[in-house]
Amino acid sequence: RPLTMALADETNRIVSEFDFTDDDLNRHVNEFLSQMNEGLQKDGTSLAQIPTYVTGVPNGTEKGLYLAVDLGGTNFRVCSIMLNGDTTFNLTFNKVAIPKELMVAKTASELFSFLAKQIELFLREHHADRFEESHVRRRNTVSNEEGFRDESIFRLGFTFSFPVQQLAINKGLLIRWTKGFDIHDAIGKDVCALLQTEIDKLQLPVKVAALVNDTVGTLMARSYTSTGKSRSILGAIFGTGTNGAYMEKTSNIKKPIPGEYDDSTGEMVVNTEWGSFDNQLNVMPSTSWDKALDAQSVNPGYQMFEKRVSGMFLGEIVRLAVADMISNEKSSLFKDINSSSNDWASTTTISPQSGFLKPWGLDSAIMSVAVSDNTPELSTLRQELENLLHVYTPSLEDAQAFKSVAYAVGRRAARLSAVAIGAIAIQSGKLDDPNEEVIDIGVDGSLVEHYPYFRDMIHEALQAIDAVGPKGAEKIRIGIAKDGSGVGAALIALIAASKE
Ligand code: ADP
Repeated sequence: RPLTMALADETNRIVSEFDFTDDDLNRHVNEFLSQMNEGLQKDGTSLAQIPTYVTGVPNGTEKGLYLAVDLGGTNFRVCSIMLNGDTTFNLTFNKVAIPKELMVAKTASELFSFLAKQIELFLREHHADRFEESHVRRRNTVSNEEGFRDESIFRLGFTFSFPVQQLAINKGLLIRWTKGFDIHDAIGKDVCALLQTEIDKLQLPVKVAALVNDTVGTLMARSYTSTGKSRSILGAIFGTGTNGAYMEKTSNIKKPIPGEYDDSTGEMVVNTEWGSFDNQLNVMPSTSWDKALDAQSVNPGYQMFEKRVSGMFLGEIVRLAVADMISNEKSSLFKDINSSSNDWASTTTISPQSGFLKPWGLDSAIMSVAVSDNTPELSTLRQELENLLHVYTPSLEDAQAFKSVAYAVGRRAARLSAVAIGAIAIQSGKLDDPNEEVIDIGVDGSLVEHYPYFRDMIHEALQAIDAVGPKGAEKIRIGIAKDGSGVGAALIALIAASKE
């Protein structure tokens, strides 16, 4: 059965607002390149283009046992990674929730001593031999400042997903807390030193060797595990948020790089912070729902690209668009069409508890359910609309309308993602280089992993970018980088340790 005519028309009207044409793509790519280069010239521009002090990517032959910790939100993850030197690795991890009171503690030491304690528990549980051995040695032979022999010290990569001003590969000053953390005492301090101090109090054989952003970790992890002679040029996250880090020629970084680094490769990984691309809206599309979302967000006017691309926001765009249809009395969406009443409350099939009626009430995950349901009756999607969004017996037409909107919002996000990826492929200069057969890109995050055809839609858009074209798009390989934050942090700790 087709959609009832009126609902089909209405859906098409909404869907067309999310069109993102090939012309739009090309205009966006030019703007992205210009904002990238602006960020390489000076601070305070829309793309922050932060130098990371990481001057090379791995090639898969790296070996050794490393520790990695990840503090990014609700959980703290401690892991050890054995890099086998043949593009494979083994990873062991513990995860604990951060106690709420520590997120708002009086002193940094309260939080960081908890983190150090978790590292100790992890070592006792999973690496008891080396842990004990290092302590025996320490009692018998005092061989360096900390009392450990160098080979028994674990190098640790610290993934810290809050804004920091990075001054060296293992030094970064906290600019501000986000995501519910608020410990005033830590602002302006070097977070690696805060962690090392607490590790030393517990006399653990651990050295904080590197401070890592999750996008840089993704780039490293992908470069280590991807086979073939090409090294990866970009690591990108499409999860709760979106961001990317790419390899740039240091000669293109015109603004001062404050700390010391080894420039023998002539390259450095740059963290773009592309979530704030085009905050001024020079080019980006802005539907009434984009505007409503921004206005009700905690940071209006900021992270404008992220608000059109990432998992935290896509569900809300869909919800706002669908909510407009629901509240339209002429629309048959989520209505009991057999009812003779004209009153919305008595005809709607939506429960008052429905996520459709609450800001942020629709998780992007249901968009993936919608788009991947190809059954003629859309029975999986209808079940989920009922279970997750409390719609009573949604009709096939309801589900078709929802699916169309979910598809349109996801497709615009994928095409915007192609803007960032295409611009960075162009910036790399490798598209026209006959010696570069593959341009490898590592990605991570639930959206790119689970939203159907996300990578295919990116590829289709890449072909339509004039400076990439079908031939260039064929060279671009986008692969999932699993466990990026653990493996990537270990690899950066290794690179840092080799330069000690
Ligand atoms: P994080 O980025 O926080 O490390 P994830 O990569 O898992 O974590 O991303 C979580 C985000 O992805 C959430 O905003 C969630 O709504 C969204 N998400 C989770 N599952 C899916 C899915 N199947 N399809 C689309 N979005 C999803």
